[in-house]
Amino acid sequence: MTSVSAQEAFIPLARPLLGEEEAQAASRTIMSGWVMQGPQVAAFETEFAAYVGADHACAVSSCTTALHLGLIAVGVVPGDEVVTVSHSFVATANSVRYCGATPVFVDIEPGTFNIDPALVERVITPRTRAILVVHQMGMPCDLAEIVRIARSRGLAVVEDCACAVGSEILWDGQWQRIGRPQGDVACFSFHPRKVITTGDGGMITTNRGDWDERFRLLRLHGMSQSTAQRHGSPTVTFESYDVFGYNFRMTDIQAAIGREQLKRLPGIVERRRALADRYRRLLADIPGLVLPEEPAWARSNWQSYCVRLPDGCDQRQVMQELLDQGIATRRGIMAAHREPVYRTEPWSCGSGPGACGCAAGTCARLVESERAQDRTIVLPLFPQLTDAEQDRVAEALRASCLLCP
Ligand SMILES: *Cc1c(COP(=O)(O)O)cnc(C)c1O
Repeated sequence: MTSVSAQEAFIPLARPLLGEEEAQAASRTIMSGWVMQGPQVAAFETEFAAYVGADHACAVSSCTTALHLGLIAVGVVPGDEVVTVSHSFVATANSVRYCGATPVFVDIEPGTFNIDPALVERVITPRTRAILVVHQMGMPCDLAEIVRIARSRGLAVVEDCACAVGSEILWDGQWQRIGRPQGDVACFSFHPRKVITTGDGGMITTNRGDWDERFRLLRLHGMSQSTAQRHGSPTVTFESYDVFGYNFRMTDIQAAIGREQLKRLPGIVERRRALADRYRRLLADIPGLVLPEEPAWARSNWQSYCVRLPDGCDQRQVMQELLDQGIATRRGIMAAHREPVYRTEPWSCGSGPGACGCAAGTCARLVESERAQDRTIVLPLFPQLTDAEQDRVAEALRASCLLCP
């Protein structure tokens, strides 16, 4: 294959599904003259809440800011501890630190890449305020068990659903969408690497009206009156600033795009599931390759398809061999505790009895988190991926795995 044809046939890891509808929605909003948080944001919130089945949805600037507000709402204050995973994008743990609290990391289950509920109870201390779970790569975590532990210990459950819009969980015998929420607060991302996108953007869902009001206050500088209230008022009014707030707003241009993305979402999830099924069939017989598990109570949206390489394979070499054939991959999810910004913190491996007990920046008990980062790769999966392209990925991976010592 010449480099030119390889270039033409390049298969990226992911590609957002955006089209004329999104472009026109953005254009209409711009021409309307109202581009900041306004009628489009309000409509997007209503439609998103209806989709996931939540009472309230509040749009914000990203999932990171959603997590920050979610943790504030459930009462996380400086000095608290929040039980979470290291095996996630760094924003998960960072959101705990924005509150002045300490993330206490527990390990993951190797098959689903999600928090291992069996490890949670032993790190709970009198300072623990909340459990921050991640539905990693769109796969619902064992939320029933987490919520059971949280309720019995008086803790809140915040869900990092950055990747999980459209995923489902079996709850009280019924399939429900992630974000209802089954915990207390759920936070979504609309970054282009996720399943639907508004460029940047996020959403917080909850069934508590008082928390939803709090989110609306905090995303707008703690301002007592919203922009719409002041704009529509027939009498002169002065706002006040009663609480310490932030600028975490979403724009109306983003929300207009989000509303079009929401219309596409059912089709996107259906295509992703079909592609995941195809990967399962195409890759099933590669010796030593381990495919992701979908528990009986979970239906993933397959935001990412992450495979564990056979023992003899070198992660970087397999990725390079695929890249040489015009196929992009990424290594598995990062582990925050291994990064300098976490490694150097004295508390970085948790502080409760039986927490992972690190010395000099090593965290021996997060074995599966580290192994997942070192031994897995994420394969291309996006709605526009053709069956023929997917066949090419599977064949290239097969050839590479068979070459491993
Ligand atoms: C992407 C991601 C985030 C951050 O989302 P932003 O919208 O980019 O802030 C947080 N948590 C997880 C698990 C993610 O994958």
